[in-house]
Amino acid sequence: MSGPLRLYNTLTRSKEVFEPIDPRNVRMYVCGPTVYDYAHIGNARPVIIFDVLFRLLRHLYGEDHVVYVRNITDVDDKINARAAQDFPGLPLNDAIAKVTQATEKQFHDDVAALGCLQPSDEPRATEHIDKMKALIERLAARGLAYVAEDNVLFSPAAMDRLPGAPRYGSLARRSLDEMLAGARVDVAPYKRDPMDFILWKPSKPGEPGWPSPCGIVPLGRPGWHIECSAMSMAKLLEPFGGGLACDDPAKNIFDIHGGGIDLVFPHHENEIAQSCCAFSTPRMANYWMHNGFLQVEGEKMSKSLGNFVTINELLQKWPGEVIRFQMMMTHYRQPIDWTERQTENAAATLDNFRHHTKLADAASGDISPAVEGALADDLNTPLAFAELHKLSDSARNGDWKAACDLKRTCAFLGFDLTVNVQELLKNQRRDIDEKAIENLVAARNAARKAKDFKESDRIRDELAKIGVALKDSKDPRTGELRTTWEIAR
Ligand code: AMP
Ligand code: ZN
Repeated sequence: MSGPLRLYNTLTRSKEVFEPIDPRNVRMYVCGPTVYDYAHIGNARPVIIFDVLFRLLRHLYGEDHVVYVRNITDVDDKINARAAQDFPGLPLNDAIAKVTQATEKQFHDDVAALGCLQPSDEPRATEHIDKMKALIERLAARGLAYVAEDNVLFSPAAMDRLPGAPRYGSLARRSLDEMLAGARVDVAPYKRDPMDFILWKPSKPGEPGWPSPCGIVPLGRPGWHIECSAMSMAKLLEPFGGGLACDDPAKNIFDIHGGGIDLVFPHHENEIAQSCCAFSTPRMANYWMHNGFLQVEGEKMSKSLGNFVTINELLQKWPGEVIRFQMMMTHYRQPIDWTERQTENAAATLDNFRHHTKLADAASGDISPAVEGALADDLNTPLAFAELHKLSDSARNGDWKAACDLKRTCAFLGFDLTVNVQELLKNQRRDIDEKAIENLVAARNAARKAKDFKESDRIRDELAKIGVALKDSKDPRTGELRTTWEIAR
């Protein structure tokens, strides 16, 4: 590789060399979907971008040495509202189960079609309520949270008096006034300070509820921010010797935390506040990464403007790989304007790549070092694509190695360029690149002449895979080997 992996860290506002806490266990957490509706194309952006990072980390540190956790938020007021609206006849909890199960399945189908690997783990919030309560109890015991009218609230002012803890607002780098405006904090009368935020709130009768922490009698449910502190603890700290029972702060930090730029404040700021105060750590994660926002045809996506595009709708018109390609054409920190014209460009480029690599072998060997170098520079996917174009140009001019490198590197990036042999045969010679076949036949015969039978057999098998059969004969006069080829039926 051309250099070390460097990532832009929102905490320091600079590109930094990535140094994992433990290279045998590189740990990444990305905030996942709230499952109440189809995911839109903006939601697909962090899923695809962090999938690319996951693939790169696995490549650099080994498949078994990277843990990628993306949670599922299955308790939320938006879910309750949707369930009541869609299934008015059902008890609320049954309606909620219907909404969350169907939406979760839809999300999984959508992102699989976009070529994303499964994360190592996908914890659901409702399965980690005990961990959330344990964190809340710890924060209350340390004087950072208080009970008011059956709510538990976190106090940023108390955090700022805690030695060793980071200052509240240090990720977002906003002033108190800006944070107040940005959070649009509803200043409930029971709050001691307008900045205080909810860790736990009481449930109304019929709403999902669990026995509450801190001696509160009515059933209640967690706030959104504490869900991620608890699930990252359960999946990225406890299995590696950290957690509430461990008083070594070094064991209670993980490597990378990610999500969209809109999550910086208040969500990630509040996750940091909770986790750092519970564990007495200066940081929750060492590297914080945020993708830029996506708009559609020049406008902010919204239901009222009628330009709200779900992944599912797009998949009815375009293959998932085209959407994935289009997403990666822009650097992840830049805003994207999602246009149909760019989708067409992405589709045409992938067609070209596929055409020029039809006969190539992607099975073994390394990915392109230039592409790897581009990705290692803060996931520079546009530069990586420029390198793919160079390989594609060489492949078009008959460079077999470039074709193999292109196909293999595309597979690594989540694009399978394998051609369907049946399809190819259907299109017959019209679609077969005769010049490339002639070149391969010549390469095979050269290998045979050099007695490299392993290579000559490999090329013959490669041709057979796309339905090209070779026929060898000897010239009766000169005794020279002659090879003809035909499309096997
Ligand atoms: P949400 O379901 O709104 O919490 O969003 C899930 C993920 O998608 C979060 O990481 C958001 O930051 C991200 N996200 C939401 N809308 C957009 C958008 N228009 N562009 C890019 N990312 C987005
Ligand atoms: Zn989160």
